[in-house]
Amino acid sequence: MLTVAEAHEIIAGCVRPLSPSRLRLSELLGLHLAEDVVSRIDSPPFDKSQVDGYAISTSDSSEFLCELELVTAGNLPREIVRPGTTIRVMTGAPLPEGADAVVKWEDCEVRDDGLIRNQARQVKTGSCVLRRGTAFRQGQVVLPAGKRIGPLDVALLAEIGQGEVAAHRRPRVGVLPTGDELVAAHEEAGPGQIRNSNGPMLLAALAEAGAAPVDLGVGRDDPADLRQKIALGLECDVLLVSGGVSAGVKDLVPGVLAELGVEEKFHQVRIKPGKPLWFGVRDEGQRRVLVFGLPGNPVSTLVSYRSFVLPALRALAGAQFSPPVTDRRPLSTPFEHRGGRPTYHPCRRNGDTVEPLAWKGSADLATLTRADCLAAMPPGDYRLEAGAEVEVIYL
Ligand code: AMP
Ligand code: MG
Repeated sequence: MLTVAEAHEIIAGCVRPLSPSRLRLSELLGLHLAEDVVSRIDSPPFDKSQVDGYAISTSDSSEFLCELELVTAGNLPREIVRPGTTIRVMTGAPLPEGADAVVKWEDCEVRDDGLIRNQARQVKTGSCVLRRGTAFRQGQVVLPAGKRIGPLDVALLAEIGQGEVAAHRRPRVGVLPTGDELVAAHEEAGPGQIRNSNGPMLLAALAEAGAAPVDLGVGRDDPADLRQKIALGLECDVLLVSGGVSAGVKDLVPGVLAELGVEEKFHQVRIKPGKPLWFGVRDEGQRRVLVFGLPGNPVSTLVSYRSFVLPALRALAGAQFSPPVTDRRPLSTPFEHRGGRPTYHPCRRNGDTVEPLAWKGSADLATLTRADCLAAMPPGDYRLEAGAEVEVIYL
C-alpha cells in the first residue's frame, strides 16, 4: 500500500496549473496571481500631510505666522510658504511648496488676531509629512506571482491603478456524495438512513479554498445513476466523489470511473482514517480532470480532502504542490496507539501542548468540531507519555 508521501508525489505529478486569464478586481478574491505586479506609480504619489494642521518651514525663525490659505485633500496649494507665513492643510493634502513639516492643529496656538505662533524650533523637518515614494517606488514588484489574493491585495491593485491582472481562474470542482442510505439535511431519516453530511462539508470547504464548487446532487449505489452523475462531474476541473470506494458489494465508484475513461493512479493509502482513497485522471485533448474518490465516513472525507485534495487545488492555481504544513508539539496527556497504519488523531491545543481527544473513529464528526489540529501518530502498538512530542497538522 502507498505511503502518504508516495501518494502526494503521484498527485503532484498529475496536476497541470489552470491557464491564467486577465480578471477585474471584483473577480480576484481568493485566486492566485499569475504574474508579478509591478507598480506604475510612486506611493504616495506626492508629498502629503499626515495630519490636520499647519504647513511650515523649519528654517523660519519668525515668532508669528500668517495663514495664507486652507488646502483640503484633493486640492492643490496656490500659495508658497515663505518666512512669516503658513498654509493650513487637512490630512491627505499635498505639502505646499516652501514647507518641510506640518504641525498638528492641536499643538498650535492661534491668537485672537488669527496669527499662529511658530513652533519651528521644536519641529523636525519632515514631521507629519509622508514623502512621495516612501511606501514603494514606480517599477517595484508590489505583489509576487503565486500570491493568493486577499482584500488588501485588491486594495493595493486599486491604489496603483491596476484594474485588471492575470490570475489563475477558480477551479470548478464537482461534488458527488454517493450512497443509498443518504437523505438531505432537511429530510427525515427513515430506518437505516443517515443524512448526507459530506456533500455540504465539501461544498463549504471548497468555497473556503477559493474554488468554484459544483453540487452534483447525491449518487445512488446504482451503476446507471452513478454513470450519469459522474459523467456530468467529469466536465469540471476536479471531481470529488465521496463513498463507494471501499471493498463492499455496493462500492461501485472505481468500476464506473474506469468505464468512463478515468485512469486509476492509485487506490488505498496507508493512513487512518482514509485508507480507501482513490485517485485518477481523465484526459480529453488538452483538458485534464483530476478525480478523487474519498472514503465515505465524514472524518475520513475531511482528512483526505485536507491531506490530498487541498494541496492539489493550490497546485492547480499555480502554487507549488505542498503537503499540509506540520509542527511538533508535546502531548498534554498520555496516548495509546494500536494498528499498522499511521493515524491522524483529533487533538486540541492547550498552551504549547496538544491534548488527544476521546475520539470514536471515522464517523465521529462531533469530536472533530472540537479539535483544532490532528496529531500524526506513527504506526505500531505503543503508549506515548505526556510530554512526548508528536507531529501535528493544524485544522
Ligand atoms: P462508504 O465509503 O460508502 O462505504 O461509506 C462509509 C461510511 O460512511 C458509511 O457508514 C456511510 O453511511 C457513511 N457515509 C457515506 N457517505 C456519507 C455522506 N455523504 N455523509 C455522511 N456519511 C456518509
Ligand atoms: Mg457507500
